[in-house]
Formats: sequence, structure tokens, C-alpha cells
Amino acid sequence: MKIERVVTHVLDAPLREPFESASMRMGRRQNVLVEIVCDDGTVGWGECLGPALPNAAVVKAYEPWLIGADPLETEKIWITLYNALRDQGQRGLTVTALSGIDIALWDIKGRHFGVPVSILLGGRFRERVQAYATGGFRKSPGTRKRDICEEISGYMEQGFRAAKIKIGFDVREDLEIIEALRSLIPAEARLMIDANHGYDVIEAVRLGNAAAQYDIDWFEEPVVPEQPAAYREVRRGQPIPVAGGETWHTRWGMKEPLETRCVDILQPDVCGCGGFSEIKRIADMATLHGVRVVPHVWGTAVQIAASLQFMAALPPDPQRPSPIAPMLEFDRTENPFRQAVVSEPIEHDVGWVSVPDGPGLGIEINRDALREFAMKGSG
Ligand code: CA
Repeated sequence: MKIERVVTHVLDAPLREPFESASMRMGRRQNVLVEIVCDDGTVGWGECLGPALPNAAVVKAYEPWLIGADPLETEKIWITLYNALRDQGQRGLTVTALSGIDIALWDIKGRHFGVPVSILLGGRFRERVQAYATGGFRKSPGTRKRDICEEISGYMEQGFRAAKIKIGFDVREDLEIIEALRSLIPAEARLMIDANHGYDVIEAVRLGNAAAQYDIDWFEEPVVPEQPAAYREVRRGQPIPVAGGETWHTRWGMKEPLETRCVDILQPDVCGCGGFSEIKRIADMATLHGVRVVPHVWGTAVQIAASLQFMAALPPDPQRPSPIAPMLEFDRTENPFRQAVVSEPIEHDVGWVSVPDGPGLGIEINRDALREFAMKGSG
């Protein structure tokens, strides 16, 4: 079997209601899917985290090294591509593009052997995963508290027992919202906060100390990702477990955060950190340091399927009769093509999501949706 073609599908859709985190405003959803076609007709799918058009361009830049290669040789291909752009590309788009390619290759490998990727990764420790609803963005500054309370209450009514909201705008206002939410949702519901690196150390420490009384599971991306020492200050300065890592790439990018304990919870993204080949290594590194892994997920059903395959194969750590299980980040904000790109949507059942059990990622792509949502001029 040899790789014959590499195709990128750039998807684009406007949103009815724009929303914002501390670090970005979203008026459209854009994602890129990677399709790798082999000479025997086998097709694999992947997705890249981050800006769609630049990712698509870098995927195409890797194409000369892919054509004619054996897609089953995932490790050999990974290091060949990494080395090809290494000198200027140790992190960022070179790695997010490589991630989408690597995921498509593992999808091919799973289809070739007739097993899900989770089996190829070593086996399935779980068949379903508890999901947490990601939402609570700012839609309008004037009605932020009311909007978030209504939205998160809705998730609880749907059966979710865990949710994450966006903070990082203003310490005092963020605290008011956290306090209101904690009194609104069931006592057993998990609540997480994500600053999208909108604070500096002083603000993050202040927020964390004041918010600790509201039983917060983790405080995500308190400060900018380039400052490991600032992460350590936030961990030392306040009691809520600190999470981060969605923008850190490859084993090398995770080394310092793990070795110097920047985070209590590491959040690698399979579509960003280097694909299945690399996230497996990163999870192994986390076990060396006693750091919990809860993957970051922000994309279409292709990314959700890939994340579920990885999460199914994450060994319980520590081992015990009712072990800690990883939670699936389940983005509940508007994305018109999130589930349309697959023939069977990956949905939740009162807050739990099943791991697909078909070969590869366990999904089939709906090509009508790829055409419907194709970015104009990208095809
Ligand atoms: Ca985040």
C-alpha cells in the first residue's frame, strides 16, 4: 500500500451569534480536514487544530514526502516530516499540520487491520467517557452573567454534570459569575474555569484564591503559554489545580512544563501536539511526573473521534477499583458543520459519549457536508 494523494478540505461557516473568549472573537467557524488516499483505495481522515487555511498550506507542503510512502509506517513518516521542516518548525503550524496527517495515517492503519485506533494504541480501558460541556463564552458584555447562567443551566438539564466556562476578562466580574453558577448548578456538578491566558500572574493568583471556595476542578490557561515560570507562580500562589497545554507541541514542548510542574493537569490536543504518534508519548511522559492528562478538544467530529480513540486507550492512573477517568471536552458552542461532516453524529447521552468501535477513527465522512461547507475558493 502506498500513499497516492493528500487532499485538504477547508470548511467555513458564519455563526448566527458571535462569541468571545479572553483571547479571541469568533464570528465564523473554520476547520481543515485532511484526506489521505492510498493506491488500493483506502482513505484516511485527520484534522488539524488551529487556523484552517495556514494549516492546509502546510499539509500541502508536506505532500512531497508523503506521496509513495507506506502509510502503515507512521513513526517513520512522522520523523521524516518533522525533520523536513524542523529547523524553522519545532512548534506551531508545522506540528498542527503534521498532527492532521498523522491522524489520517492511523485511520488508514486501523482500516487496513480492521480495528479501531484505540486497539492499535494498546487496548480500550473504557467504552464511554463522561463529557464536560464547554461553553460560557461572552456573547454580549452587558448580559454576560445572565447569558452564562442560562446556558450552563441548559447543559445541566440535558444531563451534563460537568461544565467549563470562560473567564480572563475581569477578575471581579469573573468571580461574580463563578459564584452565581456554583449556587445555580447541582452540588455534585463539576465546574471548571478557563482564562484563555487573559490574566497576568497577579490577577490569576487573586482569582484563584477567591474562587477556590466554589469547588473548581481546574483553572485552565491562567497566563500566556510562553511563560512556564508564571505558570509555576500561579500553581504556588493559589489552591485550584492548574491546567494547560493545548498550545504546547510535541514531546519537546511538554518537557519543561512536566519536569518543572507548571500544571497539575496536562491538556494535549491530538490534532495539535503531533497526532496519535506523539500524544501517546506525551501521555507516557505525564505518567513519569504524576501529572493527570485531560485532552483538549475543539473541532469537528473527526477530532472528537480521534480524541475518544486516544482516551479509550489511556491507562487508569493511579490504579484502584473506581479509577479517575479522563473527561471529554465537548464543545457546545455553535458549529454548523461539527457533526455534519460524519454520517453518524457523535452525540452525548445524558452527558456520556461512546467511543466509536468501527475501524480506524470509527467514523464515515459525509462528503455532501464537505461540499456544502467548503470555503469559497479553497477547493
Ligand atoms: Ca482552553
